[in-house]
Amino acid sequence: MLTSMAQKKALVCGAGGFIGGHLVKCLKQDGYWVRGVDVKQNEFGNNYADEFVTGDLRNPQVVAEVVTDDLFEVYQLAADMGGAGFVFTGTNDAAIMHNSALINLNVLEEMVKKGIKKVFYSSSACIYPEYNQLDPDNPKCSEESAYPAAPDSDYGWEKLFSERLFLAYARNHGLDVKIARFHNIFGPQGTWIGGREKAPAAVCRKVAAAKDGGVIDIWGDGKQTRSFLLVDECIVGIKKLMESDFSGPVNIGSEEMISINHFAEMVIGISGKNITINNISGPTGVRGRNSDNTLIKEKLGWAPSEPLVAGVSKTYAWIAEQLENLQMV
Ligand code: NAD
Repeated sequence: MLTSMAQKKALVCGAGGFIGGHLVKCLKQDGYWVRGVDVKQNEFGNNYADEFVTGDLRNPQVVAEVVTDDLFEVYQLAADMGGAGFVFTGTNDAAIMHNSALINLNVLEEMVKKGIKKVFYSSSACIYPEYNQLDPDNPKCSEESAYPAAPDSDYGWEKLFSERLFLAYARNHGLDVKIARFHNIFGPQGTWIGGREKAPAAVCRKVAAAKDGGVIDIWGDGKQTRSFLLVDECIVGIKKLMESDFSGPVNIGSEEMISINHFAEMVIGISGKNITINNISGPTGVRGRNSDNTLIKEKLGWAPSEPLVAGVSKTYAWIAEQLENLQMV
């Protein structure tokens, strides 16, 4: 496809994933020409890139093919990741660290070779120290509290290493780096089954699958707290960061903190079913976590536009539909 002189070209790494798929769609709506790259296409049909390269970004040759010198900017979202069942069991730690670090190392090095300056990197709230997240009612996740570092997972340690890697490339190679720390992004067209799904999708699936009068299992005592942000809101935050002269790292999340049991009750309420919660042992991560949006409000004037329940209603409807389609097969 021919691109006009004025049309900006973007590369989205991880375009076959949840947030990457939504980001490609948004960039297309904004008039970009978009190249997506991922080991897989988006399984829910969220594939709007002008060009999609199926390739492994751990391989420098693949990276050399997709990072071309005509790119205006790069969005680096590819990572070996999943929810608590993937990240907190310990069994995937070596793969998570090796694979994600390699991707980041390769992409940055190729950007320098090709003279591409502007890059977005998706870090995570998982970089925040465990010692500040022991009280479920009063967690601390302001940006400067990241150090002294003590993430509770190797996924978080890799993200922190890679934040520093991107910042080092900014310092030494003049890259214009933008780093966001996402806090639990959820929504339609996200992973909802298979072991890598995160809590919001898993709870929606369990409630959708349960019969009226039934029981669902929730990992932990249910008092652990989190905040969740709808993917559409996250994309607006990414755009604002990219359009600004601020590098971050900055939180992109919601400050509407909720316990996991209360979240489950919210989903049950949306379903209209009568369902009992059964708390069982399972991987849960830190006791409490909430986004602190002081910095992003000050620097970008951004805050979520809708309450949690609005996004959860949309997500529940989508997951219930996926489940129905699966049961019909
Ligand atoms: P996702 O798993 O849906 O997307 C990541 C994509 O990266 C996947 O499609 C995967 O196939 C791809 N990928 C993995 N290894 C690859 C490789 N070697 N080569 C090419 N592609 C590869 O996850 P997501 O929820 O869309 O997350 C996107 C980014 O945001 C990730 O970096 C993640 O760590 C970060 N993040 C997400 C959340 C969240 O709540 N979803 C929270 C914090 C940070």
